[in-house]
Amino acid sequence: MQDCLFCKIINREIPAKIAYEDEELLAFHDIDPQAPTHLLIIPKRHITTLNDLNEEDAALVGRLQITAARLAKEMGFAEDGYRVVMNCNEHGGQTVWHIHMHLLAGRALTWPPG
Ligand code: AMP
Ligand code: ZN
Repeated sequence: MQDCLFCKIINREIPAKIAYEDEELLAFHDIDPQAPTHLLIIPKRHITTLNDLNEEDAALVGRLQITAARLAKEMGFAEDGYRVVMNCNEHGGQTVWHIHMHLLAGRALTWPPG
């Protein structure tokens, strides 16, 4: 997608601090971190919102979560704990229109979210 911020990060047109990459996924540090560790894990294929997912995307979405758990172990906060969040549309607080999983860690997070 030409005008998508995260597609531009995938294509290295915009810089980001990349934490992990494979054929399907990219993980990078959020530019405005809400916790000591705040990563965004995204599919390389452009998907605008969670509402655009279908059955064929099941493995891809599963890989987002598996990757979050693996990064948590590798980065050393799996035992202390962490939170994953995916925001959808206006009420969910989505601001970038390419699906992404937030991985937040490094402090005790409060609940419920705002
Ligand atoms: P959301 O509000 O769930 O759509 O999350 C979008 C996230 O992208 C926010 O946490 C932003 O801080 C983050 N973000 C926006 N621009 C960039 C960027 N250029 N590099 C890294 N993260 C970004
Ligand atoms: Zn995109």
